[in-house]
Amino acid sequence: MARVYNFSAGPSMLPEPVLQQASLEMLDYAGSGQSVMEMSHRSKVYEKIINDAEALFREAMGIPSDYAVLFLQGGASLQFSMIPLNLFGEKKKADYVNTGMWSKKAISEAKKYGTVRVVATSEDKNFSYIPRLDKSMFDQTASYAHITTNNTIFGTKYDTIPDTGDLPLVADMSSNILSEVYDIKKFALIYAGAQKNIGPAGLTLVIIRKDLLGKAMGITPVMLDYNIHAENQSLYNTPPCYSIYISKLVIEWVMKMGGVAEMEKINREKAAILYDYLDNSRLFKGTVEKPYRSLMNIPFVASSEQLNEEFIKKATAAGFINLKGHRSVGGMRASIYNAMPVEGVRKLVDFMKKFETEHA
Ligand SMILES: *Cc1c(COP(=O)(O)O)cnc(C)c1O
Repeated sequence: MARVYNFSAGPSMLPEPVLQQASLEMLDYAGSGQSVMEMSHRSKVYEKIINDAEALFREAMGIPSDYAVLFLQGGASLQFSMIPLNLFGEKKKADYVNTGMWSKKAISEAKKYGTVRVVATSEDKNFSYIPRLDKSMFDQTASYAHITTNNTIFGTKYDTIPDTGDLPLVADMSSNILSEVYDIKKFALIYAGAQKNIGPAGLTLVIIRKDLLGKAMGITPVMLDYNIHAENQSLYNTPPCYSIYISKLVIEWVMKMGGVAEMEKINREKAAILYDYLDNSRLFKGTVEKPYRSLMNIPFVASSEQLNEEFIKKATAAGFINLKGHRSVGGMRASIYNAMPVEGVRKLVDFMKKFETEHA
């Protein structure tokens, strides 16, 4: 069967050259006579894989040396607990911005460990925008502030990163890491589940400023203490070895494509193809306010529930899969992460145009 265009929000498409490389190396990685899945995480051959992966992340994202790069497990969802456990400190209070379901989950988890203040929310309009934020809104005596840079379900993203002054800024970047250039120094901690833009599920990337390490609450389980993982170069216990290896191949592919700045250019081009069509369509429309439109997750609806259903059915049969929107927005959602080629978006839009002609 031919490969499909997979618009899933996650796990999502991987670049084809990465899958090919992995298949070539499946039985015998670099003359080791074993697959990466079978080798000891303490072997020399694996040590090189994890060290190279870290060096590539640092290069691709411009991560300064005073930040640790950690390869963890438990998904972005475990970070909802690890962040308060590690960063609340003595003050035990934090500022959160509520821009969707993932923010909400982060908030409800943090509340178990201290006081959470919701600085701003976009819930009044079903999270179709990002609230305006300025420095005066943040409590400078809190432990940290938390934002979700890209809201996977609602399809919004921050057009600018808020200035939180000296308050450490924590960002859930699960669905737009590596998709556009960010100045890492604006953040105290960045985290992302791998399965959207980095690699396979099972790996969670954490980038943390080193001065924030070693301050976990006494009750913090050893596996949830960033400092333990930092001191052990992410090898305190067995890491998600194979996911780290595939992620290394993905970053190599990103670098070969021209790096994150070039990915951003391509992502802007892809998103523009779909948004331009949606803005001019008589059948479909986007659900997000223009300045906050995500480059990665694009929700849209047809003029009736019946047409939504028919569109999804016909698109699936034509090889455009996983376009069904999240139940909280309805309609459709096209997730077009780094690995989705421009051609995939072009062909989807051609398909939508044809559907529009037949149904408008
Ligand atoms: C997918 C996602 C999560 C949850 O990730 P898991 O790895 O499944 O825990 C959290 N935040 C955002 C923004 C996401 O897109």
